[in-house]
Amino acid sequence: METHVQLSTLTKAFCGCPYNYGAQPNTTICPVCMGLPGALPVLNSKVIESAVKLDLALNCKLSLNSKFDRKQYFYPDLPKGYQISQFDIPIATNGYVDLDLPVEFGGGHRRYSVSFFLNVISVSSAPRIPVDLNRAGVPLLEIVSEPDMRNGIEAAEYASEIQRVVRYLGISNGNMQEGSLRCDVIVSIRPIGQSEFGTEVAEFFDATIAKGADVKLATNWIIGGIAAYMKNEKVSINDIKLNPQELAELIASIKGGTISVKIGKEHGVENQRREEKLTLLSLLIKFPPLLSLEGWRRCLPSQALSVVQFLNTSNSIVDPAHIEKMVDKVLSENPKQLEQYRAGKTKIQGFFAGQVMKLSKGKANPGLLNKILQQKLNATS
Ligand SMILES: [Zn+2]
Repeated sequence: METHVQLSTLTKAFCGCPYNYGAQPNTTICPVCMGLPGALPVLNSKVIESAVKLDLALNCKLSLNSKFDRKQYFYPDLPKGYQISQFDIPIATNGYVDLDLPVEFGGGHRRYSVSFFLNVISVSSAPRIPVDLNRAGVPLLEIVSEPDMRNGIEAAEYASEIQRVVRYLGISNGNMQEGSLRCDVIVSIRPIGQSEFGTEVAEFFDATIAKGADVKLATNWIIGGIAAYMKNEKVSINDIKLNPQELAELIASIKGGTISVKIGKEHGVENQRREEKLTLLSLLIKFPPLLSLEGWRRCLPSQALSVVQFLNTSNSIVDPAHIEKMVDKVLSENPKQLEQYRAGKTKIQGFFAGQVMKLSKGKANPGLLNKILQQKLNATS
């Protein structure tokens, strides 16, 4: 979560202009905050004082060497053409926020790791007025947390705690309705029962692109094929039998129009996992629409899904007795969780499914796994 705290200093970050919420447009501006050429910005020492106070309150390590960076933007109401912010050297790092969750939400003590950056507001603030530079140059502290929060309750409690701290320190009024405190929340989601977050698909995509794959085709393959397969089969990306390198090669062959039986064989020799005896050739035979070059080039999402499905079912465990054995093993190794499940905490089924999947090295057929697991969990004896 990124929390922007607008500092209540008497004057702006680099000039002597005051900032008062609700003042008449363009009444508290000067050549510095307007970004006029030749203006000389001078850093307001109160900004640093506020940063040091927050640094101490959030248990941070203060950067003794500090600098500002330029982030180029084109906005009609951004006269300088860039924002002033800190990029690679935050003013404070390695801090944390401690809080106790309300009892009605399960209670418990939590610690969230944070760092923070000094930024300066650079664009106008009132959308109804074409250009109002009153807010330009107002100092901001951007508090960035590590991805430590698991749900909305924690995020809300964390934001309230930050609000209490900045108000107590007197460095900001913390009024959300005035824009003095804003939160950007970056949310990662995952299907129930899956232990990895959705960002892993993004990482898989990035890795495939990094291997030189065409972006458009990679998107078709990953969104239309791999992600759809994961959703249907309730598996994580680690269970997919196609790594970024292989996908990139496949896509490169398609794009370059070089795919042929011969190349298919060569790729197969290099990349196949022996036990699967899987080659591009066998894929081509399995999926006649892909036999034509045009078919590969277009590679409809549904075709990508078929290929991914084929890749992943070719060696999966479909023997119920084999899966049952693994389920039994996981249940007997986790008596505490089993007790919790039978006491009504049925959400924990996902945990068991994940353990069995792990035990099978991702090979258990997910549908069968869940069916058997549910039967076992709900057995009375
Ligand atoms: Zn000014």
